[in-house]
Amino acid sequence: MSVTELIEKGLNGYPLTPTEIEYLLGFPPYSEESFQLMAGASALSRQLQHNEAEVHGQLALNLAPCPEECQFCSFAKSNKIFTTATEVPIDEAVAMACQFEQVGCQAILVMTTANFAFKRIAPYLAAIRARLKKDTPLIANVGDQCADHAEELVQLGVNGVYHAVRLREGIDTNIPPQQRRDSIAKFKAAGLQLGVCVEPLGPEHSDQEIAEMIHYTASLNPVFSGAARRIPIPGTRMGALGTIPEIRQAQVVAITRLAMPHTTIANCTHEPGVLPGMGGASFFWAEMGANPRDTVARTEDGRAHNVSELETMFWELDWKIQHGPSRIWSA
Ligand code: SF4
Repeated sequence: MSVTELIEKGLNGYPLTPTEIEYLLGFPPYSEESFQLMAGASALSRQLQHNEAEVHGQLALNLAPCPEECQFCSFAKSNKIFTTATEVPIDEAVAMACQFEQVGCQAILVMTTANFAFKRIAPYLAAIRARLKKDTPLIANVGDQCADHAEELVQLGVNGVYHAVRLREGIDTNIPPQQRRDSIAKFKAAGLQLGVCVEPLGPEHSDQEIAEMIHYTASLNPVFSGAARRIPIPGTRMGALGTIPEIRQAQVVAITRLAMPHTTIANCTHEPGVLPGMGGASFFWAEMGANPRDTVARTEDGRAHNVSELETMFWELDWKIQHGPSRIWSA
């Protein structure tokens, strides 16, 4: 099939095969074919979200050296960026969530390091849920140990989870990929919505690996998928491998959109930017607190973007902003 035919296939909601996805990934990111892919994906994203982008707020509940040792993460113990464990007081976490909501975030996500125990997370979730508007989705990005508490997450008012099998999971991390897949199955079985991503993209990942991961995320029927590039952590082994240019990120974002079912209404990219947005990204994340891509303890003093900056990026991309609760997590 030609590129034009594969774009048509994606626009009509027919699944792309791993071979077709790999073929599309093989074009240079600045080629005419890649720009065709970005145009098709952008049109599809706008159609599925009524041309209204969203900006969600992510806040970290804790910061700790993590034994799961994902080499791309600043929390990995052996990366020695953070050496002491701290956690945000509950009232501060609630204030951060409410602040995000007040400035227009359509959904709030709380994040923890992998081993921050469910019993310690639960009081935060209860307190945040009690203060957010009833229809503002509350999302959790938590460790695999929480998958055994998936139904309790639902009872606490959590609407969904972000949980991804990362590229080279089990090789660049201490986590067996099957453990991540099992957790996703448990979260979904409890009725939690799922957000995923193809991440963290580096220059060492082959088109075949990326294609298989895009195809896997499509098989999960998530509320969103997307593509995120790795942010090199200075002084680390993986940091030395570098990252991919934003134009390649945009190409992968576009192909991911076209390969997803249309029940996956949203397409994510991280870190946010106008150029990756050209690939049809339809929502961005604002961040507060710790951040696995940052080397400062409060990312709002570092790499993070705030809601206003992200809304401006969407303006540059000629998107409108959705007002009110998220359509993505309410799908
Ligand atoms: S990505 Fe998560 S599991 Fe991996 S080291 Fe960082 S906090 Fe731990």
